[in-house]
Amino acid sequence: MLVVKVYNTLTRKKEEFKPLVPGQISMYVCGPTVYNYIHIGNARSSIAFDTIRRYLEYKGYKVKYVSNFTDVDDKMINEAHAEETTVPKLAEKFINAFLEDTTALNIEPATLHPRATHEIKEIIAFVQTLIDKGYAYESHGDVYYRAKKFKHYGELSDQNIERLEEGASEHINDEEQNRKEDPIDFALWKAQKEPDEIAWDSPWGKGRPGWHIECSVMSTKYLGDTIDIHGGGQDLEFPHHENEIAQSEAKTGKKFVNYWLHNGFVTVGKDQEKMSKSLHNFVTVHDILKEVDPQVLRFFMASVQYRRQINYSAENLQQAATILDRFKNTLVNINYRLEDDTPSKDSDELAKAIAKTNEKFEVAMDDDFNVQNALTAIYDLLPIVNANANAEKADKKSLKLFKDKLSAWLLVFGIDTEKLCSQSADSNDEIDQLVKKRDEARKKKDWATSDQIRDQLKEMGITIQDTPQGTRWTRD
Ligand SMILES: [Zn+2]
Repeated sequence: MLVVKVYNTLTRKKEEFKPLVPGQISMYVCGPTVYNYIHIGNARSSIAFDTIRRYLEYKGYKVKYVSNFTDVDDKMINEAHAEETTVPKLAEKFINAFLEDTTALNIEPATLHPRATHEIKEIIAFVQTLIDKGYAYESHGDVYYRAKKFKHYGELSDQNIERLEEGASEHINDEEQNRKEDPIDFALWKAQKEPDEIAWDSPWGKGRPGWHIECSVMSTKYLGDTIDIHGGGQDLEFPHHENEIAQSEAKTGKKFVNYWLHNGFVTVGKDQEKMSKSLHNFVTVHDILKEVDPQVLRFFMASVQYRRQINYSAENLQQAATILDRFKNTLVNINYRLEDDTPSKDSDELAKAIAKTNEKFEVAMDDDFNVQNALTAIYDLLPIVNANANAEKADKKSLKLFKDKLSAWLLVFGIDTEKLCSQSADSNDEIDQLVKKRDEARKKKDWATSDQIRDQLKEMGITIQDTPQGTRWTRD
């Protein structure tokens, strides 16, 4: 078996991946704060690590995958207040929405989805151990971590203490800062601020856990003191993951994570702006899926290597849809051929080409999950397969082999080929013809005909979308 190489943020190098237990992998991925529908940045992270997990499973590893829900923090408290609901009710609503969206995107459920509020006892015990060891201190009902006491602080995000101090000094007048011994210390436990604010009893009074501590607790509890892979978005490197290392290693005295993997950002639209609420380009998966086929969104996001930036735009989505259509049409073509009663002409030519593609696919994926090269290898095989499927005498044995292989390859990208083909390609021509007729009617301002065709398509389960790039259609 070939060895997988992964880029480790901690060493800033591509390294040969060696799991702690041969054949098994422990993997932790930071999950969302469940105060809203997930945005495409969350979806990107979930898809990136699902694709990595699926490839490791394709390689034969057994993967134990843990991903948390942050179901209590400032954002949760503020949003529950704004929606006039409680924090647990808000969490319930958006955990369900998360599971709905990720199921639509064919993201495998985690082996375990722990929640912060279900781990309060363990969190308090963990914090107490850090206090006992001198790594943490209580102040006005809060508990803080002495960042400088941990000698590797700043290593993951490649920052030194002086730089971190400069950054922290900008917030020197914050109320919280005044309670700390040192501005770079961070909160492990936060005292209750208002009497009606959600809180639990603790040795330091009523309060709730800080954000960073929950991941240290859940990762060590469910996967062990040292794990193989910890994943998350690049924006989590500092302070979140830096703090997770400080907390965990101070408590256990062991290395927390062997391989740190971080996914790249998502930008939106033609100007490739970074997504943010203030720019009003905060796109939720819930809204996207009203218009876009989930398989297309999944494939689009899975087809960019996890460390690279993704530009979310109608154009790029369309490009992914076109590639997916070519896979679909090839499969429909093969299925049609396998069912006809012409004799098969077996030769090893096509079988060899398939084996070569399989090798290229694995070499690319083994190289830090280079999905672009893996897809190119598959894509380049399509004309050979189609030529064979269209020949007078097809090599049916190899076509069947290709069908199975393509299913396995595309499953790594989260695409179920059976589902893909169930949206029959046969009627696409008819739809394209109707869309064309409607476009012509619109050009002539013949709105009656245009509306009539739209209704006809609607009845066929087709939704029309007029975009600046032209008319697009999707199946309901
Ligand atoms: Zn985390």
